[in-house]
Amino acid sequence: MSSKTGIVIVGGGVAGLALATRLGATVGKQGEARITLIDRGFSHVWKPMLHCFAAGTASNENDRISFMGQASAHNFEFWPGDVVGLDREKREITLGPLQASDGQVVLESRTIGYDLLIFAIGSCANDFRTPGVAEHCLFIDNLVEANGFNEKFRMELLRAYATGSELNIAIVGGGATGTQLAAELHKAIEIVELHAFGASPPKMRITLLEAGPRIVPAFPESVSAAAEKELARLGVTVRTSAMVSGADAEGFSLKDGTHVPASLRVWAAGVKAPDVTKAYGGLSLGRSGQIVVHPNLQSIDDERIFAMGDCSYIADEPLPPTAQVARQQAHHLARHIPALLRSGKPVPSCVFRNKGAIVALGDYNGWGTLPGGGVFGGGWMKGLAARLGHVMLYRQHQIELYGFWRGMMSLLADLVDAAARPSARLD
Ligand SMILES: Cc1cc2nc3c(=O)[nH]c(=O)nc-3n(C[C@H](O)[C@H](O)[C@H](O)COP(=O)(O)OP(=O)(O)OC[C@H]3O[C@@H](n4cnc5c(N)ncnc54)[C@H](O)[C@@H]3O)c2cc1C
Repeated sequence: MSSKTGIVIVGGGVAGLALATRLGATVGKQGEARITLIDRGFSHVWKPMLHCFAAGTASNENDRISFMGQASAHNFEFWPGDVVGLDREKREITLGPLQASDGQVVLESRTIGYDLLIFAIGSCANDFRTPGVAEHCLFIDNLVEANGFNEKFRMELLRAYATGSELNIAIVGGGATGTQLAAELHKAIEIVELHAFGASPPKMRITLLEAGPRIVPAFPESVSAAAEKELARLGVTVRTSAMVSGADAEGFSLKDGTHVPASLRVWAAGVKAPDVTKAYGGLSLGRSGQIVVHPNLQSIDDERIFAMGDCSYIADEPLPPTAQVARQQAHHLARHIPALLRSGKPVPSCVFRNKGAIVALGDYNGWGTLPGGGVFGGGWMKGLAARLGHVMLYRQHQIELYGFWRGMMSLLADLVDAAARPSARLD
């Protein structure tokens, strides 16, 4: 490859920003490659915290990392834009028009050339075309949606306090996202009660609907049972084997003919790649729209294209759509792309090392699995180890991107902030 290879990374999420930052420190710093990161937003957030932003139990002012700031400090370029097309012959991607919040077009549609292209555009919830879901449900797949949900949640809470009417929230999807969201919403409601000037809290009901026989199915049965028990203790209604057949302005209809009333309806079930992958130059796609790659993350159709994280699919060894997989894949490409540029050495297969998983129910409880199959958490310490583990994963990610000292300063700033402000978003 040429001495100044153009590497374009699409998507600055868990995988994309880690890769841009690491490549910037090697081939970017040494002037061997021009690295460009493209994202439809201007800042990065740690997606596993989106349910906390949605509930308002974490403030995303401090938790956002500016792409421009990160780029200027780490030897790569950043351009905002939604990548809507790919021409593999010309080796260029198309960015859709960039619009300001008032709809005004700031930048017309444009193209960017590449020598190596890496897709890391993540995933979104899959509504399986269930009638009414697109029109009547909220999603929390990105920061804009999480903040939008939070505003609606606060307005519904206000209405319930002011009128004494019942607030019903229903969440579809008993995976880690839906289960953790139910606990965070309960925590937010408890915090709001402390700031309600003595007004008596209205009746509130949170219902978690799961089509399968148990919640958090990626975890052992003992964790599912303990999580369900904890949610029941908090007053959250968990309905398993509850197949949703439709959504409307009043709630959800279930296959068994019952209707679950809900003024706030959240869809957090299923995972698929963003639909735009269909416009990516005819690349082979998996069943849920992910780009099919070899075990070394190279597209099976084009050796100049790689995909990693949630938007990729290794046919021989499908991996779960988790932050852990996304990070390991980013680290793998960061380790091997420099040799590919310098000597054409092919990128070897990426071997996923399962380091376990954690599910944290707010401050109430948490559980983790270990690589050998063991389970920890729960018990009289209310899953403190697992809950701390959850926080540590985020801090580790932040330190990776910021560096040790800035990462520690950010931790300090968050601690001061937490001491100075209410622990749930009230405005
Ligand atoms: C609420 C929630 C909780 C979760 N909790 C956990 C957890 O506890 N543990 C865990 O391991 N995983 C968790 N996950 C899953 C985890 O967040 C994802 O697996 C991980 O973020 C995937 O990383 P990624 O880099 O592939 O994509 P993402 O982190 O989603 O990043 C994708 C990026 O691509 C950008 N993008 C998308 N489309 C385009 C486009 N067309 N053009 C330009 N840019 C684009 C987006 O703006 C985004 O910045 C959770 C997910 C959610 C939603």
